[in-house]
Amino acid sequence: MIDEIQKIKIALTSRCTLKCDHCNIDKVSASSISIDYALKTVDFILSSKGKDKRIEIYGGEPFTEFEKLKILVKYIRQESQIRNKTTSIHVASNGTIVNDEILDWLKKNDIFLAISFSGSRKSHNYNRKFPNAKGSYQMVKENIKKILNTIGNKRLVCIYCIHPEFSSRILDDFKKIINLGIRIVDIECVSGCMWGENDYTNLISGIKEINKYILKLAGQKKYIFHEVFTEYLRTKNLCFPNCPGYMDIELYPDGNLGFYPYAFINYNRYKNKISIGTARKGINKKYSKCKYKSKRCDDCVKNYYTLQGLDDGSKAYEIRNKIIINFFKELVSISSKNCLANNYFKQTIKLSNFFYDK
Ligand code: SF4
Repeated sequence: MIDEIQKIKIALTSRCTLKCDHCNIDKVSASSISIDYALKTVDFILSSKGKDKRIEIYGGEPFTEFEKLKILVKYIRQESQIRNKTTSIHVASNGTIVNDEILDWLKKNDIFLAISFSGSRKSHNYNRKFPNAKGSYQMVKENIKKILNTIGNKRLVCIYCIHPEFSSRILDDFKKIINLGIRIVDIECVSGCMWGENDYTNLISGIKEINKYILKLAGQKKYIFHEVFTEYLRTKNLCFPNCPGYMDIELYPDGNLGFYPYAFINYNRYKNKISIGTARKGINKKYSKCKYKSKRCDDCVKNYYTLQGLDDGSKAYEIRNKIIINFFKELVSISSKNCLANNYFKQTIKLSNFFYDK
């Protein structure tokens, strides 16, 4: 048993309503998790050390398995209460399946909904297409408005996944996201899409511009957050490189466990190589005695993340982490002397508490 698991991701299904260009998930097989495996994995995280837990449910498109999703969430809530854990539940969706029943359920169950949306029509439709190649921008944008009207902007997170092709318009896309009424943004970077040196330079300036924009809006008492801020305050995620057992375990739809993000790898080809155990049998011996940030973590990361073709996205992701972490640390360090930073920091603490304390 890994000493402390803070976050786990559960890929409920490989079925999806979209066919995004950067996604490697085998949507045709439409494989779907056995609910027993999903519940076992919930036991697994909740029986590890630490009070604050985060469970992210995604896919494929998780709302294509709404009945399983309901069973899973009910179990997470019950078990968290029994084991005295504060568990933040997040469902990541492509935003194409939204109806009153789903919205009502999200609201009643205090779920955080993360929708993938890239701001402008051009950026979004470049990747996020239906199987008939039609872009999903218009539909997702309309659905975001509906979601905001129902669950509000404290429970909606926008997953803004930056593609190198649009690295020169990061601030523009970000502003379009904010103009819709979204307050919490999770910036991600696609992998395997040929990031070049220019794109990395654009990424650095783009995220720095976003940080400046966030401060400018904070001066007008409009508070916008990088979603990871909420984690920095309640987890050990500020220390890098971190132990993948602490925050990067994923349960794939066939019951296999690994550290790789499901959408970015050729899963069928590499499932044995990347496996760290299964929901049925538990974590392999090699990882079962892992302790957060032990001496072994660096070697473990080096020896595990060896799949080819993902380095470009990993580098982009590291850049993103570094800039956002530095921004956060700077805010914290000046918050005792600077009124604006202090107000912003207080709002971040409030949001972070809202994420976990239920
Ligand atoms: S990235 Fe997500 S929404 Fe797009 S095809 Fe893959 S699973 Fe579906």
